[in-house]
Amino acid sequence: MTTPPAEAPLASRLTWLIALRLVVLTVFLIVTAAVYLGGFTPGGFSSIVALVTVAAAYGVAGIYAVFLRMNRALRVIARAQLVTDQITWTALVYITGGATSGATSLYGLTCLTGAILLGLPGAIVAAASGATAYLVLCAALGLHLLGVPPDQPAGAYVTHWDELRYPLFVNLLAIMVVTLLASYLAERLRTTGGRLVQATARAEQAERLAALGRLAAGLAHEIRNPLGSIAGSIELLRTGGTLSDEDRMLCEIIQRETARLNDLVGDMLDLSRPRVPALEDVDLAATARDVVVLAGQSGRGGDVEVRFEGPASAPVSADAAQMRQVVWNLVRNAIQASSAGSVVAVRLWRDAGAWLLEIRDQGRGIPAGARDRLFDAFFTTRAHGMGIGLAVVKRILDDHGFTIEVDSREGEGTAFRVRIPAAGQQERVTGHTGHVAPRSHRAPVDSRWISGRARSGRE
Ligand code: ADP
Repeated sequence: MTTPPAEAPLASRLTWLIALRLVVLTVFLIVTAAVYLGGFTPGGFSSIVALVTVAAAYGVAGIYAVFLRMNRALRVIARAQLVTDQITWTALVYITGGATSGATSLYGLTCLTGAILLGLPGAIVAAASGATAYLVLCAALGLHLLGVPPDQPAGAYVTHWDELRYPLFVNLLAIMVVTLLASYLAERLRTTGGRLVQATARAEQAERLAALGRLAAGLAHEIRNPLGSIAGSIELLRTGGTLSDEDRMLCEIIQRETARLNDLVGDMLDLSRPRVPALEDVDLAATARDVVVLAGQSGRGGDVEVRFEGPASAPVSADAAQMRQVVWNLVRNAIQASSAGSVVAVRLWRDAGAWLLEIRDQGRGIPAGARDRLFDAFFTTRAHGMGIGLAVVKRILDDHGFTIEVDSREGEGTAFRVRIPAAGQQERVTGHTGHVAPRSHRAPVDSRWISGRARSGRE
């Protein structure tokens, strides 16, 4: 049987605790025998109690060690160990002065150990058992059920309730305070430790991704040239006119697949070599229309209808090539998520000083668990996906200061919505001119429909 992950640290902490308490106990007894009892007296009452206590503590530690090796009931062992410790300290308190013994401070030590081992529940077990054991000892001494050890000076012990009250109160208060403080500190330590582990894991993952990104960029660069030659040669072959229908179909497959590879390589390069956007006047409506037409003609082309609905023009200030990449990646994803016969709608409309560009599909939707990670590099749920497309989209939009939001219902479809300040508004936001965009730039006066067909990319 192996240790479950959550129990693994507990097992190692318990091993340390068993070893540590034996060391503390042994040292404490040696010091007590040598200093307090004035040397070990064979046959003396206190020495016998000390010896029995040490022997019992070692015996119990042995039993715990066996359970620990078997990885059984670790939490029960931890609690049992805390209770045993408090009983052991009570035996020592008894032979070293009773209620007023300095050894009562050991109760607090166990509360601290309990908090480190099990948090607040551990500290409470230790505090409750320590307080009970100490109370029972004081009660037994106060009620004269337990006499002063015969080899100890009777004057060093308090056995009347009047005298017992004060040490009892002080020690119980001390146990309580130590318990509260120790649990608070242990909890803080646990939370900070947890965060540190998470941050380290994230940093390591980022490092791995960065290395992977560099490798991918190098590869992408090398792949691009031969890919260009393949695409060019196939185009020549296909248009040569000497091919049979079957050969032409094979050429089309090669063209489609090289186009797919080219997309991938482009995305990888975009992701690994961020470029500052070169802002210029761009007509977003024209860009979206072009992408829709291209998607219809692309090698994927066939059974998904891609439509554009929006105004004749939508001027924005952006990097033209990068915006085209954004629209293309979103449309491509929408087609890939769609099944045959469904529609991908690209809509553009004006909303409070900005253009909203929506790419909506009727595909499978995005599971709730995947939504938080959609824009992470290398996150993919597709068998042949690389998880780069949306990371590129997000990076480009972030670089421009544009925003994107996702609205998805599993089984019903997904809509990605990009908000882009309209050209005049953008200037106003950055404080250059402060004028409002002319009326012709506003509402979608004449909505135009453009559509093409693409083949669904469901995997
Ligand atoms: P890839 O397409 O290579 O997987 P992306 O970064 O483009 O990489 O997309 C990441 C993931 O986001 C996809 O694997 C898919 O699970 C999900 N996704 C993106 N767009 C859509 C969409 N329109 N519908 C459903 N899932 C989507």
